[in-house]
This record gives sequence, C-alpha cells and structure tokens, in this order.
Amino acid sequence: MSALPPGSTIGILGGGQLGRMLSQAAAQLGFDVCIFTDEPDSPASRVSAKTFVGNYLDRAALTDFARRVQVVTTEFENVPAETAEALIEAGARVAPTPAALAIAQDRFDEKSYFQSAGIVTPAFKAISSQVDLDAAIAEIGAPAILKTRRLGYDGRGQIRIKTTADAKGACEKLGAPGILEGFCAFEREVSIIAARGSDGAVAFYDINENEHTGGVLSRTTLPANVSDQTIIEAQTAAQRVLEAFDYVGVLTIEFFVMPDGSLVANEMAPRVHNSGHWTIEGALTSQFEQHIRAVAGWPLGPTTRIAAIEMLNLIGGDANDWPQLAADPTARLHLYGKRDARAGRKMGHVTKLKSS
Ligand code: AMP
Repeated sequence: MSALPPGSTIGILGGGQLGRMLSQAAAQLGFDVCIFTDEPDSPASRVSAKTFVGNYLDRAALTDFARRVQVVTTEFENVPAETAEALIEAGARVAPTPAALAIAQDRFDEKSYFQSAGIVTPAFKAISSQVDLDAAIAEIGAPAILKTRRLGYDGRGQIRIKTTADAKGACEKLGAPGILEGFCAFEREVSIIAARGSDGAVAFYDINENEHTGGVLSRTTLPANVSDQTIIEAQTAAQRVLEAFDYVGVLTIEFFVMPDGSLVANEMAPRVHNSGHWTIEGALTSQFEQHIRAVAGWPLGPTTRIAAIEMLNLIGGDANDWPQLAADPTARLHLYGKRDARAGRKMGHVTKLKSS
C-alpha cells in the first residue's frame, strides 16, 4: 500500500477518548480526521476536523463518509462488523481488517480462535440456556464467570459463580447468549500492545502490568513483574494473531499470568488500549501515533520505553481532583472532555514517569 501523504483524511469509527487521542496523534503527522459516531458532541469530535453523527448501519451516511476519507479505522470494537463491510463496498480502505473486529466482538469466537492458534485460554463453554449452564458448571466446575458473548466491557455483563448454587437463575439474569469461563487463579494481569505495518513489519511495546477495580482498569505499571520467558510467550501470541489476520494497526491482548509464569489469554482488542496510554509520554512513539502510522501506510516508529511508568485512570469523580493533579509536577494529566462524570466512567488519566 502506498503511504498516505500528509493532508489526507483519516476516518475513525467511534467518538470516545481513544478516538480523541488518535485524532490528536493524526494531527501531529499532518492528517485531518473525520469521526463517524452515533453520539452527538463526542470527546473525539471536539478535536477533529469533521464529524458525521449517524447510525452505524445507515448505508447512505456510511457511503458519504467513505467518499470523504482515504482510510477508515476504528476506536472501539463494538462497531457492527457490517459497518466495516459496508464501507469496503463503498470503496473505503479499512484497517484493521473487519475479520479481526468480528472475532473480538464475540467472546466465544475469540476464545475458539485463540485455541485454534495455540494460545491458551481459560476453560470455556457457550451458554444459551440454564441447561447449558448446569452442564458447563458440571464440566468446568466452580468458581467460574458467566459473561455475555457480545457487548460486554469493563467487567459489565458478567456474573461471578463462586459455588454451583450461584448458577441457579444466572442464565436468565444474564439475559443474553453467554460464555462460561473457568476462574483463573492468576498472579497478575498483563497486556501486550503490538503493531503491524502495511509492509508486514511488527513492533511490540513493553508488557503492561494492569490492576482492575470492579472489572475496570485502574492502574498500569511498567516494567511488569514478569520473566523474559513470559514476555516471549506474549509476543509470540501477538505475532501469531497479527499475521493470521494480515493485520494492519495496533492490537492489544490481555492475559492472566499464572503462578508458574505461563500466560492465559483473556481477550484481544483490535485497537489502541487503555493500558497503553503511558506510551504518549513514556515511549518514543505513542500507541496512537503508531496506529495512525500503520493505517496510513507509513513505517512504524520506535517503541522504546524511556522510564518506569505508573498510569492511573481517573474514573467518575476522580477527575474532580484536576486542580491538585494539574499542580503535581510528577503527573502528566489527560482529561477527555466528557461533560458528565458518571460513576465508573473513564474521565481521564495521569501518567507518572519515574527513574527505572
Ligand atoms: P473482561 O471484561 O473479560 O476483561 O474481565 C474483566 C476482569 O475480570 C479481568 O480483567 C479480570 O480481572 C476478571 N476476569 C475476567 N475473566 C476472568 C477469569 N476467567 N478468571 C479470573 N478473572 C477473570
């Protein structure tokens, strides 16, 4: 693919904070960004040249959008796969491939794919009835987690089944097709952020160690407390996925690290990721710039980390501390411009660089 020259327009599906930071990175390289979102007044649209507010299944609007941009990418994986297909039919170049988007949208398909690629996952079973659930509990055992197959994120759409008694009525409570996963007694959680350029070059960032509170990422630190062998295992898995999908862009895989150092894959995100926000200040090329470079057909940038890192998410009311955070010389503050600080909502983050 030939490199898009500066001045070209990059289309982004989705208007959240990831789109906002992608748009800021695109501007740095001389691109304009056009956002397509179903949300009026989105965080991304306020820093982008143009926004289409429309339904993701509105073919006429998608065709119009496709005509105005030179490449389309996504900032969240729950854009319907049909949207990406419709854009391709309308003549748009779409990266990463809709096939990766489709796999990441369904936890059962995603885990089935991981297994077929030799990437270890928790034990899992598809659940569409209480009978399925009872049979799956009998096989996998408790504790386990029942999750919706689709549209779950940040710990939403999940029911913890601590003992077999908790399974009673759980399927009805979930209210959607599900997947039962065996509970992993992990030692820590990590993620790898990898990128693949249109020339097939692959780059990895250092592994992120992640802490979640109530299912939502709260803190990422680097270097992660893992062995070289664990790092190689994560890189091997990411490379396998990138190549299998002829992937172009940034890809994230989240893993559980077991007590023996081995990895169990939880999920993949075909996009930039919250655990990579530290790369804005902490790496030579941010994950956002890297993704823009890849989808624009530019060479990937260096991923070298320049310091030890602590990234803290500002969730809900945490963002009200902005005066203190702005006055803290050790904290690089990012606020996403969201009007409403609802509980559990990601409002911003701070990154602290420390000497390693
Ligand atoms: P998810 O939405 O699947 O990323 O899950 C959110 C969080 O729930 C994860 O980051 C883990 O802390 C926890 N979790 C999810 N699945 C499992 C599992 N199979 N075993 C143990 N903990 C899990």
